[in-house]
Amino acid sequence: MSRFVDVVLASGQGPTFTYSDPDGALGVGDLVRVPFGAKRLMAMVWEAHDREPAFETKPVVERLLDAPFVPPHLVDLARWIGEYYLCQPGVAAGPIWSCAGKSSFVRLGLGKRKASAKREKPTDSVIAVPPLEFNPDQSAVARTLREAVAANTYSAFLLHGITGSGKTAVFLDAAREALERGKQALILVPEIGLTPQTVRRTADALGTGVAVLHSQISDAERARAWTSLRDGTCRVALGPRSALFAPLPDLGFVVVDEEHDGSYKQNGDSPRYHGRDAAVWLARRCSVPVVLGSATPSLESWHNARSGRYRLVELPRRASGSLPVVETVDLRQGRKATGTSLSPRLRSAIAEVLAKGERVMVLHNRRGWAPQAECLECGAPVECPECPGLRLTWHMGAGRLVCHHCGHSAPPPRNCPSCGSPSLEPQGWAIQRVQEEMERLFPGHPVARLDRDTTSRKGAQEETLDTYLDRGGILLGTQMIAKGHDFPDVTLVGVTDSDIGAGMPDFRASERNFQLLCQVVGRAGRADLPGIAILQTRRPDDPILKDVVAHDFAGFAERELDTRRMLSLPPFSRMVLIEASGEDEAAVERWIADFARRLAPCLKPFSGTAMGPLPAPIPIVARRHRKHVLCKAPPERSADLRRAVAQMLAQTPSPKNLRVFADVDPVDVM
Ligand code: ADP
Ligand code: ZN
Ligand code: ZN
Repeated sequence: MSRFVDVVLASGQGPTFTYSDPDGALGVGDLVRVPFGAKRLMAMVWEAHDREPAFETKPVVERLLDAPFVPPHLVDLARWIGEYYLCQPGVAAGPIWSCAGKSSFVRLGLGKRKASAKREKPTDSVIAVPPLEFNPDQSAVARTLREAVAANTYSAFLLHGITGSGKTAVFLDAAREALERGKQALILVPEIGLTPQTVRRTADALGTGVAVLHSQISDAERARAWTSLRDGTCRVALGPRSALFAPLPDLGFVVVDEEHDGSYKQNGDSPRYHGRDAAVWLARRCSVPVVLGSATPSLESWHNARSGRYRLVELPRRASGSLPVVETVDLRQGRKATGTSLSPRLRSAIAEVLAKGERVMVLHNRRGWAPQAECLECGAPVECPECPGLRLTWHMGAGRLVCHHCGHSAPPPRNCPSCGSPSLEPQGWAIQRVQEEMERLFPGHPVARLDRDTTSRKGAQEETLDTYLDRGGILLGTQMIAKGHDFPDVTLVGVTDSDIGAGMPDFRASERNFQLLCQVVGRAGRADLPGIAILQTRRPDDPILKDVVAHDFAGFAERELDTRRMLSLPPFSRMVLIEASGEDEAAVERWIADFARRLAPCLKPFSGTAMGPLPAPIPIVARRHRKHVLCKAPPERSADLRRAVAQMLAQTPSPKNLRVFADVDPVDVM
């Protein structure tokens, strides 16, 4: 029985607040109303304890629900996130509240139901499909995973299976085992991989309804999904990173599909947690198995598997079909002369495949019509007025120059901002222009385009994919097309520019490029028809391309890990990135230089280092000057590093006009 409770407010942010609990009836996760100034606010119990504070405490006004609002393990997860990712409890608890959404409170009998409440859609019908006949590799892995689920204790698996090896079927089989045992399953997928097809496939394979928690669903749908998980009527939660906060009282199994995907790390707003790492933490907390699946695992996970922290299970063969033959085309020969995005080789291959009535997928990883606007007189590109040094992208249709970093958008100026001459022209190839060229070159064949501009409307992505399924032709897309799509008769994958992303000042650039290329190549030849992939490049000798051609993940990983080891980069070290930004460059510099100077000696005792201050690789975004200090320590000193940074942040108050944050295990260091 505890006499005090620390609570986080539903209105978010901030620290915890302490109240007394005279009856000692409250526990972690309980929803309460507390006096706060003149108001009474909704809050959740973060901790129940007997540590009498030095100040006088007021009693909690009332407890709002008979049962905890969320299972206590979710509060533990949020508490871990707050401590690990260096943010306040109120911030760390944010995803719990947003996962529930507003209408869930109404469903729980709190707050008023709006008069206009819509009739509920019945849940999609589930067509239970008979399980696939597994091949021997799949059977072996499936048996291992089912045993782990049955053992009902923590274990972490890295499921490395090549593209099309049938990973999904295998982890869904293990999820079935959890359901058969009366447990719930949590399945995380990358945000853009969460298509209606994925949902249908999951529900059909599991033979049960699936609660989808997604950023695009309505508040009412969210509330229905959330409450059905909380009361146990639904047994499966499916969603992106944020679905980690689904209330699953009977959690029995966790899956992180495409675990290498960058969208698992929250960038931008705090808490900057990594969904994959948090999922592993949650599995350990709940004593259940977790499976991380990928054809191109992150080097962190690969390293964890190699060092025995995760158990490695592999699917080295395709379930049906075979891996495509991959070839490279050297763009340095003849491209300028022809003024096209497609080499003769890729162009004729596309024509041939379309003539046979088979499908093509092409990756062009740049939004807009042209990557820049350039002055024909002086050669200067037009830069974003808010982000000096960054070029504006020419978008047709909208007829605007757009900054992909700050969102600035304006019609193209009549005259060159540098020399005043009236000769600005779009330069280079972005995806809209590639689409136009393809429509011209391959008349009669639909070219469906998938990128953030064509899919901003709800349902648009599904429509595009359905059209492609119906009518065939070419699916042209940014990295969005590389994720999980399983179209049987794609026999050709083309990549217009395999070098985008290479050479970025980011130590993960090679890894990301390898993953993207492998994943998109893996869309070809997934059924009976053999596939090929053609990679256009200006760096044909790039070792990454050779690994992609050879389908050699292990070779890539060994080489890259050697480099990382030599340079003490993750996973051979841990990082915390501190960023300060503001419009007043001198103020930013002053604060961060002082911070770095005082932090460095605190890291020395455990061989930690603080690099910087340095301007961020993208030094000015939206008029804000960005400066970085990158801290590093040996992996086993990660806790010391985080503690030292947290202490120094607390001791170095920043002026109001500065924004300062720490990013633990940063993924985006640009
Ligand atoms: P991955 O997730 O490894 O890329 P999927 O699970 O999407 O692979 O499987 C790829 C395709 O192979 C899917 O169409 C799936 O239905 C099919 N498949 C999986 N296992 C088998 C099997 N044992 N026999 C036949 N087809 C299978
Ligand atoms: Zn000019
Ligand atoms: Zn900008």
